[in-house]
Amino acid sequence: MDKQLNIADILEYAAQYNTDAEIVTRQVEGGIHRYGYRDALDRSKQLANALTKLGVVEGDRIGTLAWNTYRHFEIYYAVSGMGAVTHTINPRLFAEQIVYIVNHADDQVIFVDLTFVPLLEAVKDQIKGVKAFVIMTDAAHMPQCNLPNVICYEDLIAQESKDYTWPEFDEKTAAGLCYTSGTTGNPKGVMYSHRSTILHALSSCRSSALDLGPMSRVLPVVPMFHVCAWGIPYAAPIAGASIVFPGAGMDGASLYELIDDEKATSLLGVPTVWLGLLNYIDSINGHLDTVDSVVIGGSAAPRSMMEKFSEKYGVFPIHAWGMTEMSPMGSLCAMTPYLDSADKEVRMKIQAKQGRAVFGVEMRIVDDNDQPLPNDGKTFGKLMVRGPWIASGYYKNDDRSAFRDGWFDTGDVSTIDPLGYMQIVDRSKDVIKSGGEWISSIELENYAVGHDDVVEACVVGIAHPKWDERPLLLVIKKDGASCTKEDIIAYLSDKVAKWWIPDDVVFVDSLPHTATGKLLKTEVRAQYENHYLNE
Ligand code: AMP
Repeated sequence: MDKQLNIADILEYAAQYNTDAEIVTRQVEGGIHRYGYRDALDRSKQLANALTKLGVVEGDRIGTLAWNTYRHFEIYYAVSGMGAVTHTINPRLFAEQIVYIVNHADDQVIFVDLTFVPLLEAVKDQIKGVKAFVIMTDAAHMPQCNLPNVICYEDLIAQESKDYTWPEFDEKTAAGLCYTSGTTGNPKGVMYSHRSTILHALSSCRSSALDLGPMSRVLPVVPMFHVCAWGIPYAAPIAGASIVFPGAGMDGASLYELIDDEKATSLLGVPTVWLGLLNYIDSINGHLDTVDSVVIGGSAAPRSMMEKFSEKYGVFPIHAWGMTEMSPMGSLCAMTPYLDSADKEVRMKIQAKQGRAVFGVEMRIVDDNDQPLPNDGKTFGKLMVRGPWIASGYYKNDDRSAFRDGWFDTGDVSTIDPLGYMQIVDRSKDVIKSGGEWISSIELENYAVGHDDVVEACVVGIAHPKWDERPLLLVIKKDGASCTKEDIIAYLSDKVAKWWIPDDVVFVDSLPHTATGKLLKTEVRAQYENHYLNE
C-alpha cells in the first residue's frame, strides 16, 4: 500500500502499545514530571488544536528554544504531525545568529523555556515576524516579561479537545528544521522530512545501532535543540523505550542523580558532557550500575574516556559519528562477536574509530578530484555520504558546493579500513599539512587528554617557515597540576610518529567553543598565527 509516513504515527503507535513505558523529565521549574506515551499523545493533540486556532497552517515554521523536556517532546509531535515544521533553535548561538535564523526560517510562533525568555527579550525588536511567544510552563510559573503576544503553554492547551485527526500528506513533507553553525558565515538550515526522520529512527533503534527496546530507559543528554537529540524522541517510542529527559541539568551531579534515581540504561552525549559526569562520579566514588551503554559522539571519543567507562564502570561505550546534515546518524561502533572476543588493545583500536555505516548510509572516501580511494585503513580522503536521511541541499540557500554527483561532502577527512570501520582524521580545514604530509589534530588531542593532568586539549596547524604548518598544542591543566611542556611532549613521544609531535605546548585557562560545543579552531589559529613565524 502506498501509505505515507507521518511522524504522528509514531506517537499513535507508542500510545497504543508501549503502555508501560514512561517519559520522565527533570522540570525546568524544579521537580520531576512523569507520564506515559498516551498522555503525551493526548496533550500533543490538544496542542495541535490550539495551534490551529492560532492560525498555524501546513508548512509554517514553528520555533522552539528549549531544553529536553516532555513539553518539547509534545511540540515535536503536534507541530510536525499537523504538517507544520518544528524548527529547533540552539540557544547557545550568538544573539545575532538567533535573529538571523528566526527571520530566515520565518518562524510564526516560538515556544520558549523559562531559561531562554531573556534571550528573546533582548532581540524581540529584530524578530517582528513572530506572531506569538509561548512560554513552556504553567500559570504559576509565568515570568514577568516584555515579549509581545505572550501565551502560557498550559493555558494554551488546557481547554482544548484531545480529539484531533492528523492530516494526510506526502511523506516528503518537511517536518523539522535545524540550523548548523559552521565556524564562518551564517548558519545553514537543514530540513528533515517525515520520511527521512522515520527511516532514520527505524535504523537507529536497532540492536546493531543504539540497541533500544522496551527494557531501555534512554537518557539523551544531547539536546533536542541540536539535531533532534540525535533522533531519540522518534527512535525511543518506536522501540518502546522509556525516555528520561534531563531538562536544564547537564552538569555531572544533576546527571548522576537522574541516572541513578531513574535507572537509566542508555546514555547519549558529547565527550565534554561525559567528562563532567565521570569527574563527578570519580569524586564521590559513585557507580553506573544500571547503565548498559553510553553513546559518545559529536566529537572524537578519547580512548581514556572509553577505557574508564568500560573498565571502571562496566558500561559499553558506543563511539558514533554523524552530523546535522545526516539527521545525524552516520556510523557507530556496535558490539560484534569479533569485538567481543578481541584482546583489549585490538578492541580499543577499533572502538577509537567512528565505526561502520548504519543501514541506510553509504560512505566513501575520495581524492581532490572526487575519485574513490581505497578502503585500506591508511589512505586519507574526503568523506562522502549518501542515503535517504542525508540532506540534498540547504534551506533557501544556493550554495551547492558540498553536494556533488549524488553525494554529500561531509567536510571530514577520514580513512576506511577493510572491515568498513571509518576513522575521522580531521575536519578538512583542520588537518595539519606539514612538509607535504598530513597530521591529524584530533588524534593528537585524543592522546593529550589521556595525560592525567590535562582537562582539555586543542591542536591547530600554525604557519611555519620551513614546513608550511606545524602543530601547536594548547592545554587546559587540571586545577593544581604541575606538568610542564616537556612532560606533555614526553608523554606523546611513544604514541605518535616523531614528526607529529607539536613544536610547542601552550597552557591556557580556557578554549573557545562553537554553539554545539566544538573547539573553535579558526579563533585559535588566528590568535596564534605568528607563533612559529616569530621564532
Ligand atoms: P554537527 O553538524 O554540529 O553535529 O557537527 C558534525 C561534525 O562533528 C562532523 O562533521 C564531525 O566533524 C564532527 N563529529 C561528529 N561526531 C564525531 C566523532 N565521533 N568523532 C569526531 N568528530 C565527530
